[in-house]
Amino acid sequence: MQLSAFQPSRLAQLPTPLDPAPRLQSHLGGPRLFIKRDDLTGLGLGGNKARKLEFLLGEALAQGADTILTVGALQSNHARQTAAACAKLGLKCELILRRSHHASESYLANGNVLLDRLFGARLTIIESGANREEAMEQRACELRAAGARPYLIAVGGSCITGNLGYVACAEEMLRQAGEAGITLDAVVLATGSGGTHAGLVAGFLALRAATRVIGIAVEGTRADQESAVYDLAADTALHLGITRPLPRDAVTVLDEFVGQGYARPTMAMRAALGISARLEGIVLDPVYTGKAMSGLIGLVQRRYFRPDENVVFLHTGGVPGLFAYPETVATI
Ligand SMILES: *Cc1c(COP(=O)(O)O)cnc(C)c1O
Repeated sequence: MQLSAFQPSRLAQLPTPLDPAPRLQSHLGGPRLFIKRDDLTGLGLGGNKARKLEFLLGEALAQGADTILTVGALQSNHARQTAAACAKLGLKCELILRRSHHASESYLANGNVLLDRLFGARLTIIESGANREEAMEQRACELRAAGARPYLIAVGGSCITGNLGYVACAEEMLRQAGEAGITLDAVVLATGSGGTHAGLVAGFLALRAATRVIGIAVEGTRADQESAVYDLAADTALHLGITRPLPRDAVTVLDEFVGQGYARPTMAMRAALGISARLEGIVLDPVYTGKAMSGLIGLVQRRYFRPDENVVFLHTGGVPGLFAYPETVATI
């Protein structure tokens, strides 16, 4: 599939493995479980943003940009991988990061923030109520006035260009499933800014695959997240030249695993981190993949899947974020 008019940058180690998770599967009592290891994309310690950045920074270079701006939470994995990608491509990187209710020393200086600085990004830290997009626009104006050529990336890299990374991932997973001689019945993932989810939905639609995509929300409500992901997926499908409408039920979000809100720990998330580490040697993070895995476990327990189905957990990374929450993780 030709996805873009410009050349994507090569930033990620692809394909990532699609591994069976037999001990987790037998612990939960089926279905057939696999883990798609996008925590192993390599770039800046890995994660899902590497695939988006291949397209985003490919476009930035094609436009002659010299400075990349993006926004996120203080412990944003997207910001950390953007900083690494810019270092690799020789671009300047400016991150606008917003404080949250977390105020521990580790949250403020360890994990992703430590790495952002190591990769040489310029950090602007704004207060928890502040508008990130406005701050980014304002900084872009200053840079343009000084003769720079900024390229702005939306939160999480979720936009048509970024989502193409997960259109390509849908194709990659279908190829791997074909080689393994299995059908790809369902993919379960954390859905946040929505581009990963939307890219997969658009990709499976483009390739006429029957794979269901189940997003586990990490913030917000089911209705809001489904409508945001639907819009992103429909725009991405249109970009791919697909004129048949995207069915509403192609976008499924479950919001009962969010708990008290974004980056707020739940008991089920803690259990998911422990089970994954002790049964599969897999490290999840408290904000995204831990809640997504708690969702997968909850769905298996309520017999959401048939026992003979092949279900893939998309490990979207986030592992450096673990070191921002030692008080949560040390007691699991
Ligand atoms: C950003 C992120 C997600 C969510 O991806 P979106 O495309 O923003 O929905 C999931 N897991 C991790 C570890 C992330 O950093």
